[in-house]
Amino acid sequence: MTNWQVTERDRQLWNDELESFVPPKIFDSHVHLYEQSQFQGAPPALCAEGPAVVNWSEFQSQMNDLMPGRQIGGTCFGFPAITVDFAATNDFLAQECDHRAARAQLLISPAMDADYVREQVLKQRFVGLKPYHLFATTKPTFAALIENFLTPAHMQVAHELGLTITLHIVRSRALADRANQETLERYARQFPNARMILAHAARGFNPQHTLAGIHALRDLRNIWFDTSAVTDAGALEAIIRTCGHRQLLYGSDFPVSHLRGRCVAIGDSFLWLSPANTNLAAPYADVQFTLVALESLRTLKVACYATGLSDSQVLDIFYENSADLWNARF
Ligand SMILES: [Zn+2]
Repeated sequence: MTNWQVTERDRQLWNDELESFVPPKIFDSHVHLYEQSQFQGAPPALCAEGPAVVNWSEFQSQMNDLMPGRQIGGTCFGFPAITVDFAATNDFLAQECDHRAARAQLLISPAMDADYVREQVLKQRFVGLKPYHLFATTKPTFAALIENFLTPAHMQVAHELGLTITLHIVRSRALADRANQETLERYARQFPNARMILAHAARGFNPQHTLAGIHALRDLRNIWFDTSAVTDAGALEAIIRTCGHRQLLYGSDFPVSHLRGRCVAIGDSFLWLSPANTNLAAPYADVQFTLVALESLRTLKVACYATGLSDSQVLDIFYENSADLWNARF
């Protein structure tokens, strides 16, 4: 049972549950592309286990193995490890994207000069920004305020240029955290042309957190959410019910999609279960992990079913919402 491999069991699960649910044309709002050489020292574990060069065509071939026959566009960005070479990864992303089915966001650190960010975006035609908590100015970064890794100066650039920002919020209670809610409301009102996409259902790995905080964002039309790597039901439903399905974008979080495991809510937090930390021995069945991509699609399917979405509304989540957001029809 390894990452980056599609087993017979995975294919069975796809055929039984997902083949009839996933539309033929998809826009994936959350894709990481990179080369192993773009990290100083050893690449992050998941990247080290996969191919040395993970470009647009490698992404296409990996996804095609998992979801055969789908036509896939996407918005891509580098892999945000602390050891990443920003210039190398951003140049690579700019080269990989065709400005049509393949779009790119600029990986940023709060230390970057706003003029440099503006210049890179314009010169290399990035459609957005990708900040990450690991680059926050405060430690531990898992407790960082949004301002500590997405600065008002970078929001101003996003506002001026109409950029999207894929934002993975942190702090222990994510969207239930009052400081996170306040920053999101303030940024959304102060920078109305910047369009924030809250990754992982506003980091709703514990759905209770998204449920508790989603009402704070109800009226903010420049905030979207992606479905990426969410494998526990509840957060996607809360978003659909409170903000509407037009604010929800399908995302795979590739290559996290190709990790074998599942993230579940436990108490007031969550845990990524994997073969490395979980004993699946059970007397009633041969329990085995599947890939995050498949768990996440099943979770989305449950949410669409539970909220009574029509086939065309499901298509919105997989394609139309992103195509509208990035003017990216293909
Ligand atoms: Zn990601």
